[in-house]
Amino acid sequence: MRRKTRQVRAGHVMIGSDSPVTVQSMLNAPASDAEGNIRQARELEKAGCEIVRMSVPDQEAVRAFAKVRENISIPLVADIHFDYRMAIESVKAGADKIRINPGNIGDDSRVKKVVEACRQAGVPIRIGVNSGSVEKEILAKYGAPVPQALVDSALHHAALLEKFDFYDIVLSIKSSDVSNMVQAYRLAAQQCEYPLHLGVTEAGTERMGLIKSAAGIGALLLDGIGDTIRVSLTADPVREIQAGHDILRALDLRGDHPQLVSCPTCGRTKINLIAIADEVERRLSGCRKPIKVAVMGCIVNGPGEAREADIGIAGGDGCGLIFKKGEVLRKVPEERLVDELMNEIEKM
Ligand code: SF4
Repeated sequence: MRRKTRQVRAGHVMIGSDSPVTVQSMLNAPASDAEGNIRQARELEKAGCEIVRMSVPDQEAVRAFAKVRENISIPLVADIHFDYRMAIESVKAGADKIRINPGNIGDDSRVKKVVEACRQAGVPIRIGVNSGSVEKEILAKYGAPVPQALVDSALHHAALLEKFDFYDIVLSIKSSDVSNMVQAYRLAAQQCEYPLHLGVTEAGTERMGLIKSAAGIGALLLDGIGDTIRVSLTADPVREIQAGHDILRALDLRGDHPQLVSCPTCGRTKINLIAIADEVERRLSGCRKPIKVAVMGCIVNGPGEAREADIGIAGGDGCGLIFKKGEVLRKVPEERLVDELMNEIEKM
């Protein structure tokens, strides 16, 4: 069961409650480089990015941000750190969402100006806290950035917006420690109704970053917690999008992709199953059918083990069977197995 939350709208994308969990990333071209950011945002969009964020540190970046906004179709989020004027300028430049911590921008009059700009434009605000951003007073209370300290910090920022009757808020409470991150989001889920943007911060390079993100984000999503996700990797942002979609796919949360089931191979395997499974995965990458495809190594156990699959192959000696819903369709030589499987999938 998905956690019930408030819902916010970023451009054409709804975040929260029953809206699909979205996958997002962040541009890393220089903030003033409009062309570079447009190129990258389009690549991300093509890879399946559903919301993209861009840093807006100064006026030059605002100009670039406006150009990016005009040239892409997915929602664009302005990432603001300390200068509240950049938040207001970004809203004027067409931002679909602002990421800002209101506690960092100065007195109430500034917070009010940002709130008014966002309210008028119908733009939500994401508050993003992490272990390094917890306020001194909160740290003094807990002694360390423990999960509840992170949540207190996020709710403290949210209260600054609530003061002005602003509730179009998304919270992120990230930590590079997977266990802290999971506990913090669980506490936040109990203590507020805001949609949650999940992520393990500074997760690392591609392989370990993906594993940490899958563990942390996955644990929460399985509990019904989390409305939009970002996999932070020290890698090309396109890889973040692929990783994000793979996490959702592994949890069967987006029914718009095939699920590939393949056996680990064993002494019974008599075909080149690893290459076949890789090839099937590659050829399914553009497929949007919500089907389960099984690639099994042997005829004895294959169809049985993959009974749940919609379609699949089970290897023999230099050949394989194609089966559909557990029923054998025909026997095919090994070199034609993948082609014939793909033909059947196309007909489905
Ligand atoms: Fe071995 Fe067959 Fe099971 Fe694959 S499906 S692991 S080949 S027994």
